[in-house]
Amino acid sequence: MKILVINCGSSSLKYQLLDMETETLLAKGLCERIGIDGHLKHQPQNGKPVFDEDIALPTHTEAIAAVLDKLTSAEYGVVADMSEIGAVGHRVVHGGEKFASSVLIDDEVMAAIAECIPLAPLHNPANITGIEACKAVMGNVPQVAVFDTAFHQTMPGKAYMYAIPYEYYTDLKVRRYGFHGTSHRYVSARAAEMLGKPIEELKLISCHMGNGSSICAIDGGKSVDTSMGFTPIAGLPMGTRCGDIDVSILDYLCQNTGKDVKTITNELNKKSGVLGVSGVSSDFRDLSKAAEEGNDRAALALDMFAYAVAKTIGAYAAAMNGVDGIIFTAGVGENDAATRAAIGKYLGWMGAKVCPGCNAKRGGDRFINTSDSTVKIMVIPTNEELVIARDTKELVEK
Ligand code: AMP
Repeated sequence: MKILVINCGSSSLKYQLLDMETETLLAKGLCERIGIDGHLKHQPQNGKPVFDEDIALPTHTEAIAAVLDKLTSAEYGVVADMSEIGAVGHRVVHGGEKFASSVLIDDEVMAAIAECIPLAPLHNPANITGIEACKAVMGNVPQVAVFDTAFHQTMPGKAYMYAIPYEYYTDLKVRRYGFHGTSHRYVSARAAEMLGKPIEELKLISCHMGNGSSICAIDGGKSVDTSMGFTPIAGLPMGTRCGDIDVSILDYLCQNTGKDVKTITNELNKKSGVLGVSGVSSDFRDLSKAAEEGNDRAALALDMFAYAVAKTIGAYAAAMNGVDGIIFTAGVGENDAATRAAIGKYLGWMGAKVCPGCNAKRGGDRFINTSDSTVKIMVIPTNEELVIARDTKELVEK
């Protein structure tokens, strides 16, 4: 079965077409500036040329139509016609408490995704738009929703509750949800394979470190705690998000700047994190370069990030009463050896030792711990699209 995986943003649409008999990528691409003007980059993996041009994309429906046109075209295509695509899997950011696993989309599911809009006002509407656009263009092809939050629904109350009046949980659903669940799920399953043990017997800490970052404690294959919270702003300092801060800062900043809550919250999301501290960039490559050239604030931002990751790893080792493996993934986790080494410097006490030689090497799934490290340390490139396609296949074949 061939499965189209869609990750829809408010003005963008990322896609991959996978052949699930062999789990190989047939084509991938990105529609951008939907509703503004429009651009499509389509990358077939069969040797045909890349299409990378401005085209009119007034809505997501035209974007999906353009993607299908390229996937089936003689010049850029990878399939003969649309009937070869057996199903569509959608990344959906928020499933609230309703969805602890992926689901086949029907009217009831669409209503439930819409009910979660107040919890993810920027993301869920875009995800709904993507699903509706596929329906408009592809008719009755089965569609599946895979939620970023679902993996974390196994967290116990002590991990997901905030110590605020209980009615805010019961009436307004204020609790920790966590995000990046598809990534944490993928890398933890892969880590169990690499360790040659059933995941049920393992305590793992997964560090998804990208532009957005979160850490997850995975005990026996289940998420038992995670650093993002009610929204993805919580936890670690990130590219542009502040991570955990004292909540009183919000009111203090409003009082002392004359800005309103919305403006300050926007700054905490978009102008904070390592960008805010360094004043240089949200990109760790730029920060390393600036730090090497003597920029103290860039160096401080990098130190703050490594320190926050290490503290969270320590906390999750305590939460699980031990840890067998630590996983690094996503843009920074997979590529930034210096940040991994900086985090490793805090972890010797728990028997987790990074091997400098292995850490410096690039590659795919790999161990980077020393031979005498009692905790295994792994770098595992994440593959959320593959998880979405696997879930989609499984649900459609049922
Ligand atoms: P992601 O959100 O997973 O796509 O990660 C994107 C981030 O990964 C970028 O903003 C960079 O900070 C970081 N990144 C990507 N490649 C490298 C690299 N070679 N060295 C350091 N950081 C990198």
